[in-house]
Parts: sequence; structure tokens; C-alpha cells
Amino acid sequence: MSGPVLIKTNALSPSPPEEAVTTHPRVIEGIAQEIERRTSGMDVSVRVADSPGYLFTDSGLLFEVTGLANLASLPRVSVGPLSDLGTRMIAGDGFSVLPDARISARYLDAAYRINAPKLKTHVETEMSGCIKNIFGTADTETRKKAHRSSSQKRLADAIVDIFSVRPPEFNIADAVVGMEGDGPSHGTPRLTGMIVAGQNALAVDWVLCRMMCYGDPASIPLIKAAIDRGIGPASESEIVLNGADWDELPVAGFKKSTRALRALPTIIRGLAHGLVKITPVLDESQCAKCWICESVCPVNAISRTGAYPRIDRKKCVRCLCCHEMCPKGAMTVRKNLLASLVSGTRR
Ligand code: SF4
Ligand code: SF4
Repeated sequence: MSGPVLIKTNALSPSPPEEAVTTHPRVIEGIAQEIERRTSGMDVSVRVADSPGYLFTDSGLLFEVTGLANLASLPRVSVGPLSDLGTRMIAGDGFSVLPDARISARYLDAAYRINAPKLKTHVETEMSGCIKNIFGTADTETRKKAHRSSSQKRLADAIVDIFSVRPPEFNIADAVVGMEGDGPSHGTPRLTGMIVAGQNALAVDWVLCRMMCYGDPASIPLIKAAIDRGIGPASESEIVLNGADWDELPVAGFKKSTRALRALPTIIRGLAHGLVKITPVLDESQCAKCWICESVCPVNAISRTGAYPRIDRKKCVRCLCCHEMCPKGAMTVRKNLLASLVSGTRR
């Protein structure tokens, strides 16, 4: 083997490792050291990368705060943005919903891709693991296109569209300290105690879902979309689990995201997803007026017409990108009655 090995980490925002927003640098360090050991004498380099260009133009700050910058001192390792070699336009012939997609050239051109996500809940997709992490190889505009709808199914299909362009060769999920509650940015760190690895991303995500106390991972629209596209096992019986038993995976009392409809029977979850409404509400006392929310909104529903960000409710598709990316946690979420009932909280 020769050429660059790309480790696609999750560096969502400049958050320190203990907040569990990003893949822990010690996990990435372990992966890099194993590559070094296995490729001794070969012409192989390692690139640790993610897409800070989505919002945070200062990639130096991003990698410094997430603890990833230090990894550049390891032999043959470099750390940087996924976007530095530009993107390539991929025609959407085999896609479900996206017309096309712009994908990181650095990701596409790597000799070998290792997907290194963090186990997290997600207020829109319920869970964030291997398949969702590859969504970050798409450029900002492509991701905005994916979010331009309030349909959870459409977003799931778009994420699988991106994943299908070039599935990673291997997946190693940081599930040592995961995130519970309303992740992926503002949930709560939770000791989950495992590293989950495998060649198939859907199989690894299935295991992560079971750790998050999902009895039936296929009830999550993202997992269902991946199954329907045939990118991995359609049931648990097709997954070979080594090093643990299925029964010991669930982390007792793990708090799912509000979107999870956990109080509803599996049989009606699919029908009820469209009835759960979670809308962004600004807490002005926390707002730093950085206007990141304005720049990430895929439908331009946030404006600067007042002293603070103003949301046009007619335009808003409730994608919650503003909530996810607000660095101050000032974009809170308000739940409708069904969401409150299934989550047990009003806000
Ligand atoms: S709501 Fe958050 S992202 Fe938007 S301006 Fe305020 S601090 Fe920045
Ligand atoms: S205002 Fe927030 S939730 Fe609404 S569409 Fe914009 S980014 Fe999404």
C-alpha cells in the first residue's frame, strides 16, 4: 500500500475534548500509531481532517481547541481541513434526493479512508455515528441543500446519498465518552465505555444505536434509509459482534434526543416522526451576536433586522442547524406537545 491514509474525524466545532462534541484526540492518536506500526517501511502518510470551512474559517483554532493539532508531531501525520484541495462535483445519478454533491477531493483521493466518528445523539437525525460523519465530506452548499426541508426522511436520504459516493474502507467509532440528550453540540457527555470498529459503517452504527438503548435501530429514519439503500446489514442477525454480547451493549439510562420518540411503540414511530415539532427560540441573554446562525441557515430564515438574530417562522424548516452550530447555546429549542410528551420536558 502507498499514498495518503485519511482519518475523517468529527471536529464539529472548536470544543475541548471533554465536552464530547468531537472525536477524542487520544482515539485518533491510537489510530495513527497503529497505522504507523502496520505500514512501517511503506510510502504512507496520514492526514487527520475534517471540514471546519462549514463555519469556522479559522481551522488553526479548531484543531488547537479540539486537541488534534498536537497529533501533527507524530511521525508522518498531518492535521488540517478537508477542504484544502477543493471539491469535486459528483453527479446525482444514483442519489435519492440530492441533484448532485460537491465532495472533498482530499477525501476522494485518499488511498484509504478511516472513518472516526463520535457516538452522539442528534436533535435531527436521532443518532450521529459513522454514516452521519461522512456527511461532513460534502461542502457547505451541498449540506445546506440537504437541510432545506423539514422532512426527517429526506434529510436521512440525503445523508445516505453523500455516504454512498465513497464509503470509507474502515470505521472506528469513539464511544468511550459519548453524548446523550439533545446532541450533537449541546447534549451532555456520558461515559459509554467502548471503541466500536468494523468494515461496514451501518453495522458499526447499529452497534452504537444498541448502546444508546435502541431496541430496534431500524426505527431510526437514518438507519432505515441506509438499510433501504443496501449499504449494510438489514438486521442484527447479519452482524458478527466480537468482544461483547448484544445484551451488554445498552448503556443504562442513556438519554436519547427529543426526536427519538422513545415513549412510543416501534410500530407507530414511523408515522409519528412528522408530528414531532422542535423549533428554534433565541435566548438573547446568551447571544454573542456572532451571526453564525445566519450563515448556516439553509433557507435564509435568519436576518439582522434587529439587534439580535430574527427568525422568519414562515421560512424556517426547523432543520435546527442554527441550534447545532450556535457556539453559545443561545439558540434553544421549543417542543410541541408530542415532542414534550415523548421527551418528558417542555424546553
Ligand atoms: S444565536 Fe448563537 S449563533 Fe446566532 S448570533 Fe447568537 S450566539 Fe451567534
Ligand atoms: S432558522 Fe434555524 S431551524 Fe429554521 S431553517 Fe434556519 S437554521 Fe433551520
